[in-house]
Amino acid sequence: MELDGDLLATQAIARENAADLRSRALAVDAEPDRMEPHVGSPGLQAIQKVAQPGMRCLETTVALIELARGDAGLVLACPGPALAGVIVAVLGTAAQQEQLAAAVANGSSWAFFAVTEPHAGSDVARMRTELRPDGCGGYLLHGAKRYIGNGSRASAGVVFARTGPGPLSLRAALIEVPAANLRAEPLDMIGLRGARISHLSFDGVQVPASALLGAHLPPVRRGMWGAIQAFNRVRVQVAAMAAGTALAVYDYVRAERTRPGADDAAILDATGIRIETVRRLIYRAAVDIDAGPRRGYLASIAKLEAVSLAVEVCGRLPALLGRGALLEHPLLEKWWRDCAAFEFMEGTSTIQRLNVAQGYLKGQETYG
Ligand SMILES: Cc1cc2nc3c(=O)[nH]c(=O)nc-3n(C[C@H](O)[C@H](O)[C@H](O)COP(=O)(O)OP(=O)(O)OC[C@H]3O[C@@H](n4cnc5c(N)ncnc54)[C@H](O)[C@@H]3O)c2cc1C
Repeated sequence: MELDGDLLATQAIARENAADLRSRALAVDAEPDRMEPHVGSPGLQAIQKVAQPGMRCLETTVALIELARGDAGLVLACPGPALAGVIVAVLGTAAQQEQLAAAVANGSSWAFFAVTEPHAGSDVARMRTELRPDGCGGYLLHGAKRYIGNGSRASAGVVFARTGPGPLSLRAALIEVPAANLRAEPLDMIGLRGARISHLSFDGVQVPASALLGAHLPPVRRGMWGAIQAFNRVRVQVAAMAAGTALAVYDYVRAERTRPGADDAAILDATGIRIETVRRLIYRAAVDIDAGPRRGYLASIAKLEAVSLAVEVCGRLPALLGRGALLEHPLLEKWWRDCAAFEFMEGTSTIQRLNVAQGYLKGQETYG
């Protein structure tokens, strides 16, 4: 599919800002908590522009591939509503959307989205974090969340928890941070260190009833229904970041290997073609999400393909620069570490295959 003039302009602006992001990549990787020198930079401003909750998925996706081509770690380190914004746009009232927007309005604050728990990631049905009635019409939040992006530095966040045993009791609450009885600690990650992945503990955090998302919606649409829409959209964005990382490595190796032999030139050419094929697949998945946010079939295929592409490109292409390439080129070494993390974001490849199989059985492959 071809991009129209507006999308080409979005792509060109993102591409212009990629160099700024790349110039900051190693600094953020080394010190992910030291964001002050980077906040307000042209690259981060470009990310904030395209990460607005109300934007078309295709527009965000087109830009994200180019921005991640600069550095995906910076994209994930960027202050803003991120995934919390997507879920609040689906499940929140206008007042809750405004509350989240206000919490990150200064351009230097983050929001988190917490689903994964220490014992339950892919299988959300095993979630244990609870919203227990406090006896005064509100709730007390008890439990723990793990691998939460920007969790330790956020000023607001969305937490999924149970209000009871059944599937409809899984609800999302918008909380402000710092909060009494909430502890947040960054985890020492190997890849995508800019995302500041954290562990959160809730030991009776006060949550007013008005903080629960989806109260204005029918009961079946209040909890995971909204989360699934958000996951489908974000899955395409993770695919975009994985493809952007593959492009970053490809660009780098191409620029360094100015006169490749015939065999290496063939590898580079084939890689370039494969990247463009995956890029188009990701665009189609984004178009599908814009047509219907519950259409996750192509989103899962796109994520599967993009992660496999990134792992292959980051793992194999540096060898064209010699055996010690990862030691001699810190950016290549960083992207090699980053690409392993994409596998886990928004569902592992096994989970995407299950989604694809289930989607196929339901006839969703006719979408797109
Ligand atoms: C960089 C990064 C950022 C993240 N950000 C967030 C965030 O902001 N918020 C958040 O909530 N979470 C976040 N996560 C967590 C991520 O969503 C989980 O890691 C992911 O859902 C997998 O869960 P898990 O790690 O518990 O693995 P598990 O679900 O325990 O899976 C372990 C292994 O078992 C396999 N497996 C699981 N179920 C099945 C099955 N039914 N059939 C066959 N195989 C199966 C998986 O494929 C995997 O290989 C982030 C993770 C990373 C790496």
